[in-house]
Amino acid sequence: MKKPTAGEKKRQCTSKRRYRSQGDALDAALLAGTERQRKAYLCPLCQHWHLTSA
Ligand SMILES: [Zn+2]
Repeated sequence: MKKPTAGEKKRQCTSKRRYRSQGDALDAALLAGTERQRKAYLCPLCQHWHLTSA
């Protein structure tokens, strides 16, 4: 498996919604009914939280 490039990482960041806290991110996942498939992670690029799509 190929490592994501810096550009790909940046796209993952900019194309995703940002949340101010892990709680905000998990709340959003809960509202969308996707909390089982999604995890929140702290993004090193923007220092905000995103949800994984895995
Ligand atoms: Zn980010």
